[in-house]
Amino acid sequence: MNIPESIREVLPYAIEMRHEIHRHPEVSGSEQNTAARIRRELEGMGIPVKAFDGCHSLMGTLRNGEGPCIAVRAELDALPIREATDLPFASETPGVMHACGHDVHMALALASAKWFSSHRSEWSGTVKFLFESEEETVGGGQRMVAQGCMEDPAVRCILGQHMNPNYPVNSFYSRCGAVSGASDELRLVVRGASCHGAYPEKGVDAIVIAAQIVSALQTLVSRGISPFDPVALTFGTVRGGTAQNIICGEVELTGTLRTIRPETRALLHRRLTETAEGIASAMGGQAAMEIEPSYGAVVNDPEAYRIVETCARKLLGDALMVEQQAPSLGVESFCYFLDRTPGVYYDLGCGVGTGLHTPTFHVDEAVIGTGVALQIEAVLRLLEHNWQHGG
Ligand SMILES: [Zn+2]
Ligand SMILES: [Zn+2]
Repeated sequence: MNIPESIREVLPYAIEMRHEIHRHPEVSGSEQNTAARIRRELEGMGIPVKAFDGCHSLMGTLRNGEGPCIAVRAELDALPIREATDLPFASETPGVMHACGHDVHMALALASAKWFSSHRSEWSGTVKFLFESEEETVGGGQRMVAQGCMEDPAVRCILGQHMNPNYPVNSFYSRCGAVSGASDELRLVVRGASCHGAYPEKGVDAIVIAAQIVSALQTLVSRGISPFDPVALTFGTVRGGTAQNIICGEVELTGTLRTIRPETRALLHRRLTETAEGIASAMGGQAAMEIEPSYGAVVNDPEAYRIVETCARKLLGDALMVEQQAPSLGVESFCYFLDRTPGVYYDLGCGVGTGLHTPTFHVDEAVIGTGVALQIEAVLRLLEHNWQHGG
């Protein structure tokens, strides 16, 4: 790997920080010690730190003369998993583990911060280091954005990266355009009229109506949306009824809708409601569909993506560039930072091993060197770029 000498100098620090953070994981919403540690590190580099109300998220802002502002994002939280690795720096907190690689992401951001703060003559502009709390649950990014992390100075481009154990160590996995989908939470209540199970003509069976609605909504996706436009509609719970011989008067279903295109998302919001209400009413009952918008899609900006992709190809070589063939319908809280700002989200292969969120998850630490080098090179190129939009 062709890592410049000045970047190699911050790698021992990255590895030390990764081990330290991995030893002391904290679950979403309880990241106070991790946040205090990050604050101490950033302030030790002379980088002013801002905290955010209602969460443990932090932001370090390194100003260094004229130029655009580029941000990098890392996550603070670990998972409620009992670590089952035999790493010498395994979790010392029973039942809590950095099993999503966020310890590595923090180490990469801190090492980049160290490099940028000690090589000020080699760049100009502002670099923000965003440390997001509760990424695994509610997504602290939403609060950070609401409290101005993308303003003053306005961020021109933001980078997010994630460990990916499904690809060989040091591979770059991403794509131009949509990377992951938008999510909406669904709650459907179907009302009929309860009566004795032997005399169905005296009531309206909410279970039968709900069954028709579930089938019709699946057909709405397969017949109403192009097969080339990814959609997942899942009802995960059905609750209703009191006894085997009583016709059920009310059923509640909950589910999730995943889409990529905003037009498809809007169309389905309308059609899901119309179809459920129409079927229920035709069958003598009523349906109420509540749709709670959740995460937005993560879409890589083409201009910024080209810059980051070029850095990755130069650093890693063609063989380690893996193009993501299609967007994923999973969600990522990185979407909140992309609301009004272009950005790039990419995965770094950390070796083929057990999956994210498993007790034996671990990374090949060779990824730390390339991760730091790619982050620094990409930020440098983005700082030099003549931005025509954004900000
Ligand atoms: Zn995770
Ligand atoms: Zn994660």
